[in-house]
Amino acid sequence: MLKSKKGIYPGTFDPITKGHINIVKRSLKFFDKLIIAVAENKEKSPLFEVEERVEMIEEIFEDNDDIKVVGFDTLLVNLARKLDVKVVIRGLRAVSDFEHELQMALTNRQLCKEFESLFLMPSIEYVYLSSSVVKEIASKNGDLSKFVTDNVEKRLNDKFEK
Ligand code: ADP
Repeated sequence: MLKSKKGIYPGTFDPITKGHINIVKRSLKFFDKLIIAVAENKEKSPLFEVEERVEMIEEIFEDNDDIKVVGFDTLLVNLARKLDVKVVIRGLRAVSDFEHELQMALTNRQLCKEFESLFLMPSIEYVYLSSSVVKEIASKNGDLSKFVTDNVEKRLNDKFEK
């Protein structure tokens, strides 16, 4: 069993999908407290501002005091140090995620040697789900209910003015 009581789950979450939520729920089997860290990630030109992305996640987990949501625009290891967290959680979908995740995990370890990365796989129905796919469906008026929660669906519809 992991000794760490606190984990951090970083990502762009533009927007949070049911795949991300699946990883959050799985993480809570290992950690008492989970910090969901929303990267500003301007270079990815997100659809939602970081504040909006944080708000959507807070709405989803408002009844769970074990989850805290923060926005950040620093190196992940520096945020983790500040918050005293040593385990980062990432989701692994298809093999295509692996190379990039391995590179990040090993780089983070070079930056901070106590830092460990933990990879979790989502339920099969979310393996091919991504925020990009969700935005694509939203922009073309598709049904989003299988992929995102109601609050996120509403925000997407507002963005695409439906
Ligand atoms: P980033 O830009 O950091 O990759 P994302 O929001 O795309 O941010 O993803 C954050 C984390 O969540 C990543 O580890 C990613 O692999 C994982 N993730 C994204 N979508 C899913 C999904 N459908 N199932 C499981 N993990 C996912």
